[in-house]
Amino acid sequence: MDYELSEKEKERKKAFQSFCKKEIRPLAERLAGGQGDGSQVLRALLNKLGEAGHLGLSLGTEAGGQGESLVLQVAFGEVLAKESPAVHLAAWTCGVHCGHLLSRFGSGDWIREILGGLLSGRKIAALARTEPSGGTSLEGMATKMVQDRGGWRVSGRKSFCVNAPAADVFVVFGVLESPQGAGEGLCAMLVPAGSAGARVEPEEEALGYSGLPVGSLVLEQTRVDGAWLLGSAGRGSEVLQESWQWDALGATAGSIGLMEASLEAAFVHAQQRLSAGKPLAAYQEVAFKLAEARAMLDTARLLGQKAAWLKQIQDPEAETLISCAKLYASEAATKCAGYALQILGGRGARRGCAAAEWLLAAKSNEIAGGTSEAHRIKIAKSVLESV
Ligand SMILES: Cc1cc2nc3c(=O)[nH]c(=O)nc-3n(C[C@H](O)[C@H](O)[C@H](O)COP(=O)(O)OP(=O)(O)OC[C@H]3O[C@@H](n4cnc5c(N)ncnc54)[C@H](O)[C@@H]3O)c2cc1C
Repeated sequence: MDYELSEKEKERKKAFQSFCKKEIRPLAERLAGGQGDGSQVLRALLNKLGEAGHLGLSLGTEAGGQGESLVLQVAFGEVLAKESPAVHLAAWTCGVHCGHLLSRFGSGDWIREILGGLLSGRKIAALARTEPSGGTSLEGMATKMVQDRGGWRVSGRKSFCVNAPAADVFVVFGVLESPQGAGEGLCAMLVPAGSAGARVEPEEEALGYSGLPVGSLVLEQTRVDGAWLLGSAGRGSEVLQESWQWDALGATAGSIGLMEASLEAAFVHAQQRLSAGKPLAAYQEVAFKLAEARAMLDTARLLGQKAAWLKQIQDPEAETLISCAKLYASEAATKCAGYALQILGGRGARRGCAAAEWLLAAKSNEIAGGTSEAHRIKIAKSVLESV
C-alpha cells in the first residue's frame, strides 16, 4: 500500500498552497463578497486554476490531463478548500468530476473539445443529477429522454446544480423512455447551455458557500445530439455510480480543507487569547479540543488518501472506502468547525466570522456528495455482503 504523497508531490502541494494564497484568495474574496458578476469572477478563478494545472491534474495525458495521482488531486482539493470551500466545490465539480466523466464515458471530437475547455478552465460544466422530488434515491427520476432522429428529446427539471448560472455545458441524468412511454434504464448525456428549450433559474446559495452560483436546469423537449451521450443508452447507472464517487471524493477533500482551516484558527486563538492570565491553550478543556481535532484531521486525511489510491488502482474496495472517507471526513469537519467556533468564543459567534462559515460548509458537506445516511446504507450493505 502506498498512498503517501511522494517528496515531489509534497513539493507540488506546497507550491499550490502559495499559488492559492497569492492568486486565488483575492478573487475568492470577491466571489464570497458578491463583488461583481459572480459568474465572471468564477470564470476568472477557473481560468487561473486551469493554468495552474489543478483541473486536469489526475486525468491521463492522452485526455489532456497531467497524469498525476488521484492522491495528489485530493491533496490539491484540500488546499483549495482551506482557502475557499466555494472555489473548491466549483472547480472539483467542473474539471475533476465532469472532466473524469467525459474522459471515461464520452467519445468524439466535440466531447474532446469540451473536455479540453474544462481542463483549461475556459469552459464551465455543471452536474444536473438531483431533482426537486429528491436527490438521495434517483429511482423515480422524472427527467425523460426519448429517442428522436438519431438523437434525444429531453424534458425535466434538475435542482441544486453548482455552477449552473455560469455553465457552458451540463452533464444531465435521466430515464430513457421508449416512444410508448416505457422506462428503459438510466441515461447520461451532455446538454450545451443555451440549447433550445433549456433554461437556468438561479437558486439560493448553499450554506457556507457564499457567492457560489447555483441554479435549476429546466429542459423542455430539448433536442440533444446522439454524439453527446455518455456511456451507452439505458446503461447510465454506471455513469451515475462513478458520478457519486467523484462527488464523494470532492466532498472528502473539501471537508479535510475545512478541518485544517478550523484547527489552524483555533490553535492561533488558543495561544494568543488569555484567560485569568494564561493562554486558553493552557486549559485542558481547550487543549483537548485541539488534540481531538488534530486526531480527526489526520484520520480523515489518511482515509481520503487511501480511498483515492484504491480508486486509482481500480480496487473493488474503492467504492466502500470512498463512502467511509466521505462519511467520516464530513462529520468530523462539522465537529472540528464547532470546536473552532467554541474556542473563538463570542468572536466565533458573530455573523461573518470565518469559523461560522466553515461550520455551515461542513454541515452542507454532510448532504452534498451523498448524504451521511446514504453512505451509511452503502457501507452497511458492503459489510453485510462480506460476512
Ligand atoms: C453544497 C451542495 C452542493 C450540491 N451540488 C449539487 C450539484 O452540483 N448537482 C446536483 O445534481 N446536486 C447537487 N447537490 C444536491 C445533493 O446531491 C442532494 O441535496 C443530496 O443528494 C440529497 O438529496 P435531497 O436534498 O433531495 O434530499 P432527500 O433525498 O429528500 O433526503 C432528505 C433526507 O432524508 C434522508 N433520506 C432520503 N432517503 C433515505 C433513505 N432511503 N434512507 C434513509 N434516509 C434517507 C437523506 O439522507 C436526507 O437526510 C448539492 C447539495 C449541496 C448541499
